[in-house]
Amino acid sequence: MDVRLQRVSKSFGSNQVLKGVDLVLPDRHFVTLLGPSGCGKTTLLRMIAGLEKVTGGDIYFGPRRVNDLAPGDRNIAMVFQNYALYPNMDVERNIGYGLRVRGTPRPQIRARVEPVAKVLEIFHLLARKPRALSGGQRQRVALGRAMVRKPDIFLMDEPLSNLDAKLRVTMRSELKRFHLDLETTSVYVTHDQLEAMTMSDLIAVMNEGEVQQFATPEEVYNRPRNLFVAGFIGSPPMNFARGTLLRAGEPALEIAGHRYTLPPEFRGAIGATSGNELVLGVRPQDVTLVPAGTPGAIAGRVWMVELLGSEKLVDVEIGPKQRIVAEIRADAKVAINDDVSLRFDAARIHLFDPSSGEALRRAAG
Ligand code: ATP
Repeated sequence: MDVRLQRVSKSFGSNQVLKGVDLVLPDRHFVTLLGPSGCGKTTLLRMIAGLEKVTGGDIYFGPRRVNDLAPGDRNIAMVFQNYALYPNMDVERNIGYGLRVRGTPRPQIRARVEPVAKVLEIFHLLARKPRALSGGQRQRVALGRAMVRKPDIFLMDEPLSNLDAKLRVTMRSELKRFHLDLETTSVYVTHDQLEAMTMSDLIAVMNEGEVQQFATPEEVYNRPRNLFVAGFIGSPPMNFARGTLLRAGEPALEIAGHRYTLPPEFRGAIGATSGNELVLGVRPQDVTLVPAGTPGAIAGRVWMVELLGSEKLVDVEIGPKQRIVAEIRADAKVAINDDVSLRFDAARIHLFDPSSGEALRRAAG
């Protein structure tokens, strides 16, 4: 079932935490609300669940306006960060609880619980009490409880944040599988961009109560709409360098005293800007180290080198208070204080208007 949010706003007293959110979450898609702490993503999820009243705007499930529908009448299932299991009930009763309170006959409950427990690989634990389970197993019981309900919409609020790093990675793919098996629309809240990138069909990147961009993971990574999205998505974060536009001849930017010729696809967009300041963005993965003095490359000195395992992060000072991080192969020979030059992949640089924060568009190649 698709979920439509139309100009949805929310205020707590005078504090407006959502400022007119417009989103269409298509049927059977896995949609993530991603953003920093306090941006309003949990509040938005709770409004979809009916746990929080809408201050303005409308929420639709399919054709039905649900603003005034109680949570119990929305056919949703929710998994929270701090899921609570009933300590005195075994796993089977915990998973089947929602069905039991609805008066579903016992054999039917068993018939629903078993396949879910098998998918979650907790079938062998059905007779155990929660205290005899690991954190990851408990989390799967909480998921199972939501899954047996066959909800129209599956809502999750940071369900993996209590798990250790290794289990989180495993559970990421398991959750994506559940979503596909469930054939429901899933809405997932996280501040972890890696979780969002790996699991989602669509990501709504939020900041300060507004959706900054709503697109596929590829799109938000490759074509961030503004400085906020560009800086929030990607690890290590995108490098930003402020530059002055040199309009004479080939358009170029002067960055920390260096001249950087801009790719020709930006000519149209640059012609339309009024100011002479631009912000260049380039991801560490799109920066390469070339020998010092290479023509056309930006000269600098290595400030720090960090080994990540298969890659190395090289932090290069190209001017006062201006450093650029390059992610390169771990076996590359480079040391602190080396003189180097940097080259940016011209097809992958980004330009932003510093006053609006908006990305300048490339001409379609
Ligand atoms: P986090 O990742 O930290 O949970 P979030 O993006 O989910 O953050 P919300 O929990 O939606 O953010 O909170 C958004 C804003 O609304 C915050 O400033 C928060 O203090 C405020 N807020 C949330 N719930 C209430 C409430 N019941 N009463 C007053 N203010 C609230």
